[in-house]
Amino acid sequence: MEKYILSLDSGTTSNRAILFDHRGEIVSVANQEFEQIYPRPGWVEHDPRAIWRTQLSVAQRVVRQKGIAAERVAAIGITNQRETTVLWNRDTGEPVCNAIVWQDRRTSGICDKLVKKGHAPLIAAKTGLVVDAYFSATKIKWILDHVAGTRKLAEEGKLAFGTVDTWLIWNFTKGALHITDVSNASRTMLFNIHTLEWDVELLGLLGIPASLLPEVRASSEVYGTTAKEFFGREIPLAGIAGDQQSALFGQMCLKEGMVKNTYGTGCFVMMNTGGKPIASKHNLLSTIAWKIGEEVTYAIEGSIFMGGATIQWLRDQLGLIRKAPDIEELAAQVEDNGGVYLVPGFVGLGAPHWDPYATGMLIGLTRGVGKSHIARAALESIAYSSMEVIGTMAEDAGIAVAELRVDGGASVNNLLMQIQADTIFRTVVRPRITETTALGAAYLAGLATGYWESTEELERQWQVERAFYPVVDHAEMEKQIALWKRAVERAMKWNAES
Ligand code: ADP
Repeated sequence: MEKYILSLDSGTTSNRAILFDHRGEIVSVANQEFEQIYPRPGWVEHDPRAIWRTQLSVAQRVVRQKGIAAERVAAIGITNQRETTVLWNRDTGEPVCNAIVWQDRRTSGICDKLVKKGHAPLIAAKTGLVVDAYFSATKIKWILDHVAGTRKLAEEGKLAFGTVDTWLIWNFTKGALHITDVSNASRTMLFNIHTLEWDVELLGLLGIPASLLPEVRASSEVYGTTAKEFFGREIPLAGIAGDQQSALFGQMCLKEGMVKNTYGTGCFVMMNTGGKPIASKHNLLSTIAWKIGEEVTYAIEGSIFMGGATIQWLRDQLGLIRKAPDIEELAAQVEDNGGVYLVPGFVGLGAPHWDPYATGMLIGLTRGVGKSHIARAALESIAYSSMEVIGTMAEDAGIAVAELRVDGGASVNNLLMQIQADTIFRTVVRPRITETTALGAAYLAGLATGYWESTEELERQWQVERAFYPVVDHAEMEKQIALWKRAVERAMKWNAES
């Protein structure tokens, strides 16, 4: 009887469960959204119980709808929204407050203080991260400082912290396991990515008791089993990775220098840097990709705030298109951008510019410019922004990029992928299974349980759906890139005076 791997993809807006078969094919999917809670401007919360309930529900549903017995689920892998912080009472299993989501900015002030006191270089050296409210550390501190009784519970050893992976596993095992993996731990800003231990000095700096913390495990090993009541039988829990790291694994970017870009609302670029963390000179993040057996693999990461979101802006604010995929046909009506550049600084610019005062900008408008040119410039803005991050990474890591592997909602856009190949002068490869985040966690769990023999076996079964080769004239492209850079410079610091 064929067996399957159950992958749980616990995202920011929805929880998914996907059953993969031995060939890495999707056989069943279930998805459920959960509530986003915005108590104040800049605050974003989730109800941890809702995360658990919906994740359990889709996990049960995906098995049921396929009509298979739980015996045929060989293992479970978990991938999750990273950094989101849950604190709960170890005795009752009840969260002490809502989860503070990675997007939540309430702890920016705590971060400013850390930077003012000169702690940023120490934090970067130990954790690979830039001091930011994004990461879990200051969120934990905020809860201890603001939620009544939590500090006392922590001192009594009765409080547990976890990212979403930890919270789900605690619940699946009815409190038997309080664990996370290295990839999730490396996003807390409390984990030393060199020694692979929670960092006592950083814990001291933020006043966070070590008793809160989960045990840090590898990304692929049998951690334990789900309690019998959930599936009628115990199922091994055998893989954990944060969503971007899981996607890197699902893309089979297993060798140093391999890069993936996920084109969603924003774009997330990640490069495998092999056995060593890279200290970025451009404020990119250094992080742990995964640990398998005793081997630790590192990665460097850069994100672009406005990816597919720029297409949404054209759709919702300008009304140029009715639905996102229409952008391709509109942009394809013209040969080139007609001299128009769109700088996507709507929420400031990230790597490598790091300018919070930049705004969005359309430049190069002349009488002949029409909707199609703007559509084309919007697609180009996604490709150029990605190109800049990929170039910066290659420079930081001192590694030449051979090809780019792509996934995410906007990666189905063939024109965008062709433009991307042209701008980076590299082949862009789109895999057949674009659910790479879920696939990565499935692979990690399947490897731990012997469902798959080796990463070589996985590399063999990973298939290309389509490759895009650079076709544009090199010198011509260099000219366009120079114009893009000029446009970016004009948009920078626009708001600095106001
Ligand atoms: P997320 O995971 O961030 O919610 P998805 O991976 O689901 O994002 O991708 C959705 C994004 O992709 C949206 O911002 C949408 O505008 C964009 N998008 C979807 N289809 C296309 C397309 N064919 N061309 C360009 N952008 C697209």
